[in-house]
Amino acid sequence: MAKSLQAIRGMNDLQPEDTPVWRYVENIIRHTLDQYGFQEIRTPVVEPTQLFQRSVGEHTDIVEKEMYTFNDRSNESLTLRPEFTAGIVRAGIEHGLFYNQVRRLWTMGQLFRYERPQKGRYRQFHQLSVEIFGLSEAEADAELILLSARLWKTFGIADKLTLELNTLGSSEERKAYREALVNYCMQHKEALDEDSRRRLETNPLRILDSKDKTTRALLENAPRLDQFLGHESQQYFEQICTLLEENGISYVINRQLVRGLDYYCQTVFEWTTDALGAQGTVCGGGRYDLLAEMLGGKPTPACGFGLGMERLILLILQIASVPEQINRVADVAMVAESSVRLYAIRLAEKIRDLAPEIRLLTSVKGSFKSQMKKADRSGAEMAFIVGQQEADQQHITVKYLRKDLPQRICNPEQAVFLAKELLK
Ligand code: ATP
Ligand code: MG
Repeated sequence: MAKSLQAIRGMNDLQPEDTPVWRYVENIIRHTLDQYGFQEIRTPVVEPTQLFQRSVGEHTDIVEKEMYTFNDRSNESLTLRPEFTAGIVRAGIEHGLFYNQVRRLWTMGQLFRYERPQKGRYRQFHQLSVEIFGLSEAEADAELILLSARLWKTFGIADKLTLELNTLGSSEERKAYREALVNYCMQHKEALDEDSRRRLETNPLRILDSKDKTTRALLENAPRLDQFLGHESQQYFEQICTLLEENGISYVINRQLVRGLDYYCQTVFEWTTDALGAQGTVCGGGRYDLLAEMLGGKPTPACGFGLGMERLILLILQIASVPEQINRVADVAMVAESSVRLYAIRLAEKIRDLAPEIRLLTSVKGSFKSQMKKADRSGAEMAFIVGQQEADQQHITVKYLRKDLPQRICNPEQAVFLAKELLK
C-alpha cells in the first residue's frame, strides 16, 4: 500500500463536523457587517514579499521569522499573506478605491505564519479583517470597537472579553519617545533579555511587548509614551474613550500595548480573554494613517482590526451555546422502497422546486431499516416515505422522527406544507 500523506504541521483540516459552527459564526459576522454598511473585498493569498516588508516592517516578528516566502518559477519573491491589511491597502491603491471617498471594507480567510503550533496558534489560521478608509475622526475607531462589541454580544461571550486600549501618538511623538526609551534602556542594557537588546537597535518600541521578567521589571521605571503625547493626540484618545463610555463599552487603558505591526499610529486596541490560556488575544487593531503612503498611495487616514477566527470559535464553543439545529444535515429525509427509487429521486427534485428552503436528503439506497437509520443520524425532523403504493397514488407517507405525532399519508404539496409548519 502506498504511504499515506499528512497535512502540513500547524495547518488543520476543518472536518464535516467542524464546519457547521464555522458557518454559523461566519453568517453572523457577515450579517453584522451588513448592519454597518461594510463591503466585502477579497485579495489574493500570495502577494509580492516586498508588500509585507514595507508595511508590516522589516523588524517585526512577522517579517523576521514568521513568513512563508518562496521564489516562484520566474524567481520573483512571493509570500503567503501573514495578515490582510497590507493586501487590502495595495488593492485599494491599485484600483483607486480611496479617492475622495470613505470605504468600509472587510475580508475573511486564511493567513499563514510560521509559528510554533499550539492551542489557538496555528501556521494556517483564519481572520476576519475589518477596515475603514478615509475617516480621520475618532468616530471611525469607535465604530470598529462598537462593531466588535456587538459581535461578542451576539455570540454570548461579551462578559469574557476585556477591551484594552492605548494610544501610540503621532509619528513625531513616537520618535521623541523612542529616543527617551532607548536612552533609558542603554543605561540598563545588561539587564535586558537578548531579544530586547537586539530590538534596541532595530525596533525599540517592541521592547514594551517583551515577556521577559527582568525586562518587564526594568520597564516599570522606564519613560512612558503617554508622557510624550501632545494635546491633539491626547484629545483624540479622549474622544474615543468618551464615545465608548457613551455607548456603554468598558475598557482598560494599557500603556504597554504596542501591537506587533509597525504601521500603527494613535489608537491601538485588543480584546483579550483569560478563558483560552496563553493565546488570549482574540482581536486586535488600531489606526494606520501612514500605511497608504508607505505603499505608494495618497495620504489616506485608516483604521481596522483583525479577529482570529479559531480563537473566537474556541471561545464560543467553550462558554457560549450554539443553536442545536446548526449541526443538522437535513430537515427531511427521503426513504424509498427499492422498486421506486427513480420515482423517489424525481419526487425529491419536485419538492426542492416547491420548497427551496427545505434541506432534503435523498440517500434512497439499502433496506428500509438502514434508510431510516440514516435519516435519524442526519438529524432530520421528518421522513418522506415512498413505497410502491405511494408511488402508484402519487402520495407520500410523512413520518415524524422527533415528535410523538401520527404519520400521515398525503400529496407532495401537503407534505411540504407539513414540513414547513414543523420547521417554523
Ligand atoms: P499574538 O500576540 O497572539 O501572536 P498578534 O499580535 O500576532 O497575536 P495580529 O497579527 O494582530 O496578532 O492578529 C490578530 C488576531 O489574529 C490575533 O489577536 C489572534 O486572534 C489571531 N492570530 C494571530 N496569529 C495567529 C495564529 N498563528 N494562529 C491563530 N490565530 C492567530
Ligand atoms: Mg503573533
